[in-house]
Amino acid sequence: MAAGWAAMEAPDMASHLRMMAEKGDQPVGFFGGWTLRRTYWNVAFFIPPDVPKDRVALGVVAFDEDYLRKNFLPTMMKDVLTSKSSVLRADANSPVMMIHAPKDSTPWVASANWDGEKPEMERSFADIFPSLVLAIKYQGTTIADIGMKFLRYNYTVLAALCLLMVGGIWLTYRNVSREMNLARLKSDFVANVSHELRTPLALIRLYAETLELGRLTAKEKYQEYFRIIREESERLTALINNILDFSRIEAGRKEYEFKETNLADLVRSTLDSYRFQIEQNGFAFEENISGDIPPVIVDREAIARSLLNLVNNALKYSKDQKYIGVSLYRANSRVNLEVRDRGIGIPANEQEKIFEKFYRCGDPLVHNIKGSGLGLSLVRHIARAHGGDVLVESTPEKGSKFTIALPLDPGLRTAEAAA
Ligand code: ADP
Repeated sequence: MAAGWAAMEAPDMASHLRMMAEKGDQPVGFFGGWTLRRTYWNVAFFIPPDVPKDRVALGVVAFDEDYLRKNFLPTMMKDVLTSKSSVLRADANSPVMMIHAPKDSTPWVASANWDGEKPEMERSFADIFPSLVLAIKYQGTTIADIGMKFLRYNYTVLAALCLLMVGGIWLTYRNVSREMNLARLKSDFVANVSHELRTPLALIRLYAETLELGRLTAKEKYQEYFRIIREESERLTALINNILDFSRIEAGRKEYEFKETNLADLVRSTLDSYRFQIEQNGFAFEENISGDIPPVIVDREAIARSLLNLVNNALKYSKDQKYIGVSLYRANSRVNLEVRDRGIGIPANEQEKIFEKFYRCGDPLVHNIKGSGLGLSLVRHIARAHGGDVLVESTPEKGSKFTIALPLDPGLRTAEAAA
């Protein structure tokens, strides 16, 4: 008892109790501490209520150490730790507590799971349990660790947001430059097409007028003029067909009429109507049509138009080496229609782009040759609508090989065409 009394002298205690009474509180004072034999004692002094004014009375309650250590304090800790207090809540690591003497950090009372490590925070129990210190920490972690984890999480979120922002900027930039490119290609297209329409029309008019005047005497001249008029009107028809097909595809209205077809016959007859023009232009022409092609379900007109587009390109984009080769052969479950030339070729970095609408290669030579930039995009659309595709192999200055690969299995066609 002597140790506890040393904490506060009797007059102090009396004034303390008096002050509490004046404030309207029930006057209670607690005193306690550690004995030399390391047991904790704690007493409460109070002025009992209803004591007549002419008497002096003081109540004293001493707490049982065993009760404090084994019952009261452990229950109190459990209540605090299991309460829904947001201060103590942690997602993965629950908080733990212990109580110890001020100069000895060995736990006197500890909550379940106290891991014996250094506490994060300590507070002395002020008035009620003098000489006791409450220590608290998170189980298996430290506040610094939790802070670090939080910081890391925030940095990750920040990095993800930055990435999203950069991605967004890049996408916007890509879309804008694509749109600008397309606008430029469209205006080139209009210029090219007007030119392509005007030239054959002018020729047709010129030759028709000459014929009309009847000034020609040689029969061969008549034949030549008729041929030029026919060829130029064929060129006009091909161009207009390409534009019409293109606008139907763009509007999503392009329909194909799939029919069982003898591809060998189709290719042969399409080339026959073109052979004269090819040879007239000084081209060596080679045709290899394999005899084992089974009937294939295709849109005749679309396949013929694709072939004409490829042959026409071979004619347009050849310089001194004038050669066109066309082959039709079976390759596993596909049939390949191949058009080869020994012309100007296509640089590797443009070989994928040539199938985009309006695209024409950057080579100045190409710009001197008339074209709309639609032919190959139509060929690709047609090949894909048949469940196949069109491939290119080309070396600049050496020549190009375009292959339309069509599936023999019509099931494949319907699924891919629908897609
Ligand atoms: P166009 O011939 O009307 O310009 P295409 O869509 O048919 O349009 O072709 C796109 C571009 O691909 C052409 O402008 C040309 O640069 C290139 N190209 C196509 N076929 C060949 C070929 N056989 N040899 C070289 N370049 C070609």
